[in-house]
Amino acid sequence: MIFAIRYLGNMYNPLELSKKTEDIVINGNMKKYYRFRPTRFYGGIATADTVGCNLRCKFCWSGNSVWNVKNAGKIYSPQQVADKLHELARIKGYNQVRVSGGEPTIGRKHLIELLENISEDLLFILETNGILLGTDKTYVKELSKFQNLHVRVCLKGCTQEEFSWLTGADEGFEYQLKSLEYLRDENLRFNVALVSISKNKQELFNRLTEMDLGRIMIENEEIKLYPLVRKRLEKEGILHYFEV
Ligand code: SF4
Repeated sequence: MIFAIRYLGNMYNPLELSKKTEDIVINGNMKKYYRFRPTRFYGGIATADTVGCNLRCKFCWSGNSVWNVKNAGKIYSPQQVADKLHELARIKGYNQVRVSGGEPTIGRKHLIELLENISEDLLFILETNGILLGTDKTYVKELSKFQNLHVRVCLKGCTQEEFSWLTGADEGFEYQLKSLEYLRDENLRFNVALVSISKNKQELFNRLTEMDLGRIMIENEEIKLYPLVRKRLEKEGILHYFEV
């Protein structure tokens, strides 16, 4: 499938956007969050919803936490976030915690300190687009010291072309793939979640095989058509691709 990329001139760079976002959502080792909640994902998991992302996926369910970061959330220390996650997990009897709502890898110091404050009895599922991990192997190495960590990298498309079509970003797909290589090299537990409307995913599978990642677990990320998502996809003229 050939993806017609509109608004070429308006594309953004995810690394530049990471820095701009970090300036708004990070203060020292503190980061903005807008909600703490129990959710039924993964069979039940305590969730902290953070603010700020370095992508603008057209199918993203987040609202202000991605698209209007200045006006979203409040600042929390790693200890405060850990305390809230522990409390939710205790009340609900969960043994898993995660950060959702935005990109958790923005604000490296905050994330590392958050992980240091999470009880080793709890599994921390790091849901990430992988871009910042794929640009800096030392970040992945630092994460590898946490035994209770599982990384779930969400690939946006099967190729750079589809990635740009889905996200509006000028680059990033190669960083996503690179993150998988680094995660493997550092012996972290990880899997891939894939968002793609492409009928032929062979090109991605071939790339992964070439990278010796052919046996990696890949799950399809389900796109929920919440009213906000539906509206955005409709505006982009691409809703029909996501309707089953
Ligand atoms: S990476 Fe996730 S949080 Fe960021 S824009 Fe895409 S779907 Fe939304």
